Amino acid sequence: MSRPDILVPAPMREMILDGLAPHFTLHRLYEAEDRDAMLAAVADRIRGIAISFRPVDKALVDRLPKLEIVANFGVGYDNVDAAYCGTKGVIVTNTPDVLTDEVADTAIALMIMTVRELPAAERWLREGRWKSQGPFPLTRGTLRGRTLGILGLGRIGKAIATRAEAFGMAIHYHNRSRQADVPYTYHPSLVSLAEAVDTLMLVAPGGEETRHMVGERVLEALGPEGVLINIGRGSVVNEAALAAALRQGTILAAGLDVFENEPQVPQALLDLPNAVLLPHVGSASVATRNAMGQLVVDNLVGWFRDGRVLTPVAETPVPAMSPRHGA
Ligand code: NAP
Repeated sequence: MSRPDILVPAPMREMILDGLAPHFTLHRLYEAEDRDAMLAAVADRIRGIAISFRPVDKALVDRLPKLEIVANFGVGYDNVDAAYCGTKGVIVTNTPDVLTDEVADTAIALMIMTVRELPAAERWLREGRWKSQGPFPLTRGTLRGRTLGILGLGRIGKAIATRAEAFGMAIHYHNRSRQADVPYTYHPSLVSLAEAVDTLMLVAPGGEETRHMVGERVLEALGPEGVLINIGRGSVVNEAALAAALRQGTILAAGLDVFENEPQVPQALLDLPNAVLLPHVGSASVATRNAMGQLVVDNLVGWFRDGRVLTPVAETPVPAMSPRHGA
């Protein structure tokens, strides 16, 4: 029996490709000299896509008439046009839960690094300035007495909140909908959240709806002792407005793991001493990335074996069992 054809548009971790290879015929588009010619040659056989941090847009979906499933590596899937996939009956899966604790740990680390200026303190030691100039200057920022506002109190947001509670922080949040199962203070708008807190943690998904939610108005509301942490998606922040706010002292500092146009980081942010910048490492441990990769494999194998996936996204709910896959 022929194995389903899967398109791999961009490089993925070897453990994912090794996991898929026994079950599928893989078409590694990124290895082709002429990608368009290769795509044209296989397009009407492709039944699945495995993708990592690269776009799967309308144009690609439309080129693949037999496409059934897009398996995305990552819980955020703003790179995939899931709404359009939904209209075409194409399932989209992501990799939630297995990365929640890792990302929450990174978010807390980034918050402390930013508030206490730890990267600058480490540079001070490595540059020999401790010996030549004395102790690193006292930091204006402290976690003591801070109130944390979370934009996006979902799986990761809640894991961050639990950790922040252990640090003695009061927790507020803004989502589109109030959460029934948490004791934290809800705000119906992001501006009212920013007014109520001095530390704002962004964990909301990317996409048009959240694009540039954080701009001048929110940063002004956060205030001069304000600290912004972004572990969600870069597109949520207007980076030019943030750079200006950091330069002018509208807020105290920012810690960013994600950027609007990765891997490009605006020079205006690189130039600022009160910005801590990480290269999108929220989930980036071998163990967690392996668990995410296994979920990509399990979703594709499950779909083609018995019409089930483990983690469909909200836009493409899967029926309990697809008729085309039999019992
Ligand atoms: P989740 O459980 O779906 O949580 C997302 C939360 O955002 C939900 O509580 C949702 O609540 C809220 N939200 C969505 N749209 C919103 C809007 N327009 N305005 C206000 N709130 C909104 O997802 P998760 O697993 O926690 O992951 C969250 C995000 O983290 C991912 O989408 C991804 O972008 C990012 N992430 C980053 C890294 C990294 O390495 N830095 C790693 C993993 C994930 P409502 O539906 O009630 O609005």
